[in-house]
Amino acid sequence: MNMETSVESDLLINTVRRFVETEMFPHEEEVDRLGHVPEEIGRAIEAKSKELGLYACNLPEEVGGGGLSIAQMALIEREYGKTSHALQSWAARPTELLMACDAEQRERYLFPAVRGEKRELFALTEPDAGSDVMGMKTNARREGDDWILNGSKHFISGPCMPDFAIVFAATGVEETPRGPRKRVTAFLVDVGMAGFDCREGTRCVSYRGYKTFELHFDNVRLGPEQILGEEGRGLELSGKWLGMGRIWVGATCCGKAERILEMATDWAATRKQFGKPIGTFQATGFRLADGAMNLRAASLLVNDAVARAEKGVMSDADAAMVKVYCAEMLGKIADDAVQIFGGMGLMEEMPIQRFWRDSRLERIWDGTSEIQRHIITRSILRPLGA
Ligand SMILES: Cc1cc2nc3c(=O)[nH]c(=O)nc-3n(C[C@H](O)[C@H](O)[C@H](O)COP(=O)(O)OP(=O)(O)OC[C@H]3O[C@@H](n4cnc5c(N)ncnc54)[C@H](O)[C@@H]3O)c2cc1C
Repeated sequence: MNMETSVESDLLINTVRRFVETEMFPHEEEVDRLGHVPEEIGRAIEAKSKELGLYACNLPEEVGGGGLSIAQMALIEREYGKTSHALQSWAARPTELLMACDAEQRERYLFPAVRGEKRELFALTEPDAGSDVMGMKTNARREGDDWILNGSKHFISGPCMPDFAIVFAATGVEETPRGPRKRVTAFLVDVGMAGFDCREGTRCVSYRGYKTFELHFDNVRLGPEQILGEEGRGLELSGKWLGMGRIWVGATCCGKAERILEMATDWAATRKQFGKPIGTFQATGFRLADGAMNLRAASLLVNDAVARAEKGVMSDADAAMVKVYCAEMLGKIADDAVQIFGGMGLMEEMPIQRFWRDSRLERIWDGTSEIQRHIITRSILRPLGA
């Protein structure tokens, strides 16, 4: 699909842009100050996204989703990236992982998620296993046909209290050419099940109002019908989704950088010192020039990965490059914008400090910049046997 010229895509961008500008921008400051999204605001965004056909727009039409292409999803994520995750995540795009549901699971989890009746969490990270996913301690042991789940997860995020979680747990060890490896299985676990405690966790200074949850499992009994995909193949399942997730992060970063640059440009053109707009001082103007240049490069990198994904040839390294480049591009633009605003950049009454805080998270979640560089390095060295 040609993203520059398609009339359909122009319409889509305009629809999402108007939605974000009218239903989300006006609430950003209040949500940041309160540290939560008032229920009526969240529900209004949810309702509007359904009315516009944007709810679950990422999932195929055959399961009731919007059936948008990868390229269209990237355009949407760029627009959503201009606002806070705390607000835009109410217009849910349920995880594509749910497409692995079997017929019965589709009735219980996928279709309700598509209709907006249920919300899910993606629960991989643990207190002692962040970047080192294989260090996970959460485990499920077999008892007859059932599985007994124990352990805990943290930093598991969503806009509101979920209905169920996709939980990754070690279910044994297997031999591989690279030595023994944990078998990791994805389970669908309902909030409210005996032994499952899901509570709000520590508050984050990025995207204030977007919640993180702590999940604790104390001998939670799960039937075999709670396994998502195949036993022992949970990481393969999540890996496919994480790759696309990194492209969405890249697109989000581009949208946010665009909005920050607009604010910084406006300030540089109007704020005067020494009788001149500060943007005319080379030190300030070059920050804007570098920002524009780096945003263009990041956008092209997203488009390149999207084209590869649409052809079915996107690699883990392609996705990692997008994630690290776009997140770091955004970090630099946000930091430069604070500098351009001077002291005002750090004042609560100005939005720029909020964008600076929000931007910081993008280098951490969905795999830190360091982990993305590991993935890229591995793709370079492995073919040489190193
Ligand atoms: C707001 C928020 C929402 C989140 N949402 C979710 C969610 O919904 N689901 C979920 O599963 N997770 C979620 N996460 C977790 C997120 O993916 C992790 O925070 C991230 O993967 C990093 O793990 P960590 O925080 O434990 O850092 P650590 O792994 O402890 O890393 C700390 C530092 O050490 C560096 N480091 C670690 N290992 C290496 C290495 N081998 N080489 C070089 N440097 C290394 C890291 O890059 C980092 O700089 C969320 C996190 C946050 C903050």
